[in-house]
Amino acid sequence: MRRVTILGATGSIGQNTLDLIRRAPKGSYQVVALTGGRNIAQLAADARAFGAELAVTAHDDLLVPLRAALAGSGVEVAAGAAALIEAAQRPADWTMSAIVGVAGLAPGLAALENGGTLALANKESLVTAGPLLMACAQATGARILPVDSEHSAIFQALTGEDIATARRVIITASGGAFRDWPLKRMRAATVAQASSHPNWAMGQRITIDSASMFNKALEVIEAKEFFGFRPEQIEVVIHPQSIIHALIGFCDGGLMAHVGPPDMRHAIGYALNWPTRRDLPVEALDLATIGRLDFAAPDPARYPALGLAWQVMAVGGLTGAVFNAAKERALDHFIAGHIGFMAMADLVQSALDGLAGHPELAVSEITLERVQSVDHVTRQHMDMQVGRRAG
Ligand code: NAD
Ligand code: MG
Repeated sequence: MRRVTILGATGSIGQNTLDLIRRAPKGSYQVVALTGGRNIAQLAADARAFGAELAVTAHDDLLVPLRAALAGSGVEVAAGAAALIEAAQRPADWTMSAIVGVAGLAPGLAALENGGTLALANKESLVTAGPLLMACAQATGARILPVDSEHSAIFQALTGEDIATARRVIITASGGAFRDWPLKRMRAATVAQASSHPNWAMGQRITIDSASMFNKALEVIEAKEFFGFRPEQIEVVIHPQSIIHALIGFCDGGLMAHVGPPDMRHAIGYALNWPTRRDLPVEALDLATIGRLDFAAPDPARYPALGLAWQVMAVGGLTGAVFNAAKERALDHFIAGHIGFMAMADLVQSALDGLAGHPELAVSEITLERVQSVDHVTRQHMDMQVGRRAG
């Protein structure tokens, strides 16, 4: 019986993970801890249904409702940031890191310290603190498996290959909600319009990041940090059908593509079953029905966020933490209606420029405390910029 923990269990990735665990033969998994945010009803229902040892909400003020919802169940309850870390520290064989945002970094690191397997959906961890994460895994013998579909695709395409023979990595992008929209219309895009994805069902934040391609920028950095690719080896191509998730180009000119339906249960299930493969409840693709696969170069005028990834990688260090925090805060302000859709990339660019040379960034070693400090400084900087625009 494998002991599993799911950080961010109530979200889109968390629920898909639980779906796979629910379908597994009885007795395959013991759920150690489930964590969530404000959706107490979901967290409590899942903790009961899966017989979790512990359920944790990120919010201190929700401890009482969580306790009430789990009364008589035998499930331990806790709340707050320290409790999230404690949940991640409980010995588990496999932990899903699926909290959204930099908030997922500290719990993911805590899980790595146990030396088990960390299935990493939380891309922000690698963007803000890639070297720290990889060093922690190295030190404890923990294994990190990618869950982002493109990175799972790269991982699968590289299986059995010598990574030194990989010359290029091509990450596909759907183009998001506005892939067919002219720039003028994108400027006036609403939150509701940006929150609907043509191919994938995901949480709201990553869905909006897909429309702006901030998501793809994060994934480019994630590919560098996880696999060690050089920035100039990484390419992005728009592929509206989301059937090919990534390709590796080898030195002999061959391309290995990973092809599959846009269903996150494939990448999650791959990480859950690795190193073996097991049946998964994903659709068998009918290529004749799909008929064609299209590709196009991303237009930098419509997707200014994408190019920022290479700016971030060129500087390195804590610049990823600045980039991520600026992006998270720009997204908060867009969702709150304070700024327009295209202003997000403008503001993130100005944060990268404005904070370049900041003493907080001038360190060679990345630590959790430094990431958190840079994250804080950047969010303040963004709030000032947004305030200045409004005023
Ligand atoms: P989501 O918004 O659906 O769920 C997020 C989860 O994190 C929820 O359980 C929520 O309660 C919890 N959470 C939110 N803020 C928190 C905080 N401050 N502290 C602790 N917990 C908090 O998000 P999602 O779409 O499932 O994405 C989760 C992560 O996986 C993100 O990093 C995302 O980029 C990545 N990812 C998602 C998909 C996808 O298909 N949804 C694909 C690839 C990568
Ligand atoms: Mg992805």
